[in-house]
Amino acid sequence: MILILITNLLILSAVVYGAPKKKTYSELKSCDLGNLAEEIASYDTVVKDIIDYAVTGPFKGKTYDELAKFVDKFGARPSGSQVLEDSIDYMIELTREEDINDIVTEEVKVPHWSRGEEKLTMLEPRVKNIAILGLGMSVPTPPEGITAEVIIIRNFTELENIEEDTIKGKIVLYDPVFTTYGKTVKYRSQGATKAAAKGAVASLVRSIAPFSINSPHTGMQTYGKNVTKIPTAAITLEDADLIRRIITRGEKVILKLEMTSTYDDKISRNTIIDLKGRDRPDSLVIVSGHIDSWDVGQGAMDDGGGLFISWAAPVILKRLSLRPKRTIRSIFWTAEELGLVGAKAYEEQHRNDSYNINFIMESDEGTFAPLGLAVAGNQEARCIIAEILKLFESISASTLIEDDSPGSDITLITSIGVPGASLYNENSEYFWYHHTEGDTMNVLDEHELDLGTAFWTAVAYIIADISVDIPR
Ligand SMILES: [Zn+2]
Repeated sequence: MILILITNLLILSAVVYGAPKKKTYSELKSCDLGNLAEEIASYDTVVKDIIDYAVTGPFKGKTYDELAKFVDKFGARPSGSQVLEDSIDYMIELTREEDINDIVTEEVKVPHWSRGEEKLTMLEPRVKNIAILGLGMSVPTPPEGITAEVIIIRNFTELENIEEDTIKGKIVLYDPVFTTYGKTVKYRSQGATKAAAKGAVASLVRSIAPFSINSPHTGMQTYGKNVTKIPTAAITLEDADLIRRIITRGEKVILKLEMTSTYDDKISRNTIIDLKGRDRPDSLVIVSGHIDSWDVGQGAMDDGGGLFISWAAPVILKRLSLRPKRTIRSIFWTAEELGLVGAKAYEEQHRNDSYNINFIMESDEGTFAPLGLAVAGNQEARCIIAEILKLFESISASTLIEDDSPGSDITLITSIGVPGASLYNENSEYFWYHHTEGDTMNVLDEHELDLGTAFWTAVAYIIADISVDIPR
């Protein structure tokens, strides 16, 4: 009843006032670019050519096909594994086949965390197997496992207010309400440390996700200094709800956790592919994604999609003989999942030439239908990008979102003042699959990947070719 009334009201107000027209970034910020606006508009033909080539022409379906071949061959590509290194070699070969030979790799020391065997069993009030995924860098349990009562915690404030004696010797289960990933992920990344500080023997976290079909979601966590490292893992939304219901009814839950994870260091590589600029080869427009993945699923969405649209950009430009003024650099970051390790190494190795980065892009939040860009930079920079995005109205990808820390890897570089952007896309279901066995090709759509490839390639081309640098 109430719903019907509200719907009627909405229809009424739409009839009376008309649907409000959403203002564009340029209108909101009164961007005045003078002659540059005309110059940018003149790229409409090349944008159309790139979209045609990628969406209906010779490249139609290729991003999906190549990505499928890649993930079907290698599967998951965890940091420090041989399969990750083999997949890097494969991408280099695939690029050479396109007659692009300006490829270097840079070595990086990366963590090699291996989850081993994992098992979580509810012993009381009844015996039940609980699905888990250990969190990145978790220490193992002793061989006999850890058996303890569960204390359920909604948020860190609740944890702080509970006396140490109540928590000591128990397994803390964080059961936060998922709002956004950014706001909720701290229970995964810092949960073990905060629980250990209060004397817990292990910690679990409700998977950081809005939706579940009994799938645990893994992810990185970091131990703080000077606290005991306790084993830590994610459980499903369903089991977190189950345990909460049982405890709320006044019953005790006893769990037995067994984990055999191991850890050492390995050498991996960032991969750098250049399509050299014709006038200013030292000035870089970077497109990027990470090639490593979690050890579950196939890393098709995270971040195979970002990897392959960033691979496609120089390939399509080369095929269309479109050589911009500045260099298009495609980077495949290594070991993103275990703490942006490849990107940190790149930033350190290239700190002195970082001024050569004109603009840096990363796609690591899904490659569903592109909507535009999430942009870090000053207002002038954003005005220029907003003007470029106007050329993508035909594929509904003209929206500019202000985002001071876009992407994952590239925030290390945008935070020192380099303008950059991540792909803003129709990713409302991204966290359903993120870091789970469900991250497979089935999540992705061939046409949406074509649109993403077209958009990514054309945006990078224009930024690399226009007469002005993106201001800092
Ligand atoms: Zn990712």
